[in-house]
Amino acid sequence: MIPGARLVMLGKQGAGKGTQCVRLSRHYVVPHISTGDMFRASVRSGTQLGNKVQSYIDEGNLIPDDLVISVISERLSHPDTAGRGFVLDGFPRTVPQADRLNEIVKPHKLDLVVNITVPTDLVLERLATRMVCVDCQTNYSPQQTPKVQGVCDVCGGEVIHRKDDNEEAIRRRLNLYDTQTRPLIDYYQERGILLEVDGVGPVDDVTLRLIQSVDEFLSKMGQL
Ligand code: ADP
Ligand code: ZN
Repeated sequence: MIPGARLVMLGKQGAGKGTQCVRLSRHYVVPHISTGDMFRASVRSGTQLGNKVQSYIDEGNLIPDDLVISVISERLSHPDTAGRGFVLDGFPRTVPQADRLNEIVKPHKLDLVVNITVPTDLVLERLATRMVCVDCQTNYSPQQTPKVQGVCDVCGGEVIHRKDDNEEAIRRRLNLYDTQTRPLIDYYQERGILLEVDGVGPVDDVTLRLIQSVDEFLSKMGQL
């Protein structure tokens, strides 16, 4: 275990970020913070925040930076993340968000940013067929279906096709990824904390590859 690991996960939609972040957070014993999950939960429970963000999410647009930053700053101020670290999933997604994250984690720094790489034709196929639990956000695919159709193995919640996994919203999200999020790869490369990991293959293989690469990187940086 790495005390106080501060990890960020990048990767286009369908690269497997959510699934792998859950596994990394268990392995490194740090909370998994997913902005997508947080916003979807607020929409589902009908909070004021949920009402504000619903149309952005459904249409596949980015939620304005100020709003996302205020939600994430609040979450990262809790003792679990402030003290032990985190695996961040879905944040930052723009350069202004990345700049703000550097401020938020002070006096600490991010340890590592992992980019999971997967070709676009493969993510399109994954997004078109993925299903998700509305309660705990566990992802399912044709390779990994729930034991009982429509019912989550983990929590019994309803397993559905995400509303924003339709062709138009997917296209918009992938375009936004190219224009807004891809620049973060250079951003973190320049800071010497970027690690690229191949996200193609069975989920367990990718997890092993990730953990090996992360451990190797962190031990080189003197974190392990
Ligand atoms: P995906 O990566 O498949 O698009 P996520 O679950 O990470 O899905 O995010 C779902 C939606 O939540 C995004 O399309 C966007 O509307 C919103 N969102 C999540 N994180 C951010 C962020 N950092 N900045 C702006 N919008 C965000
Ligand atoms: Zn569930």
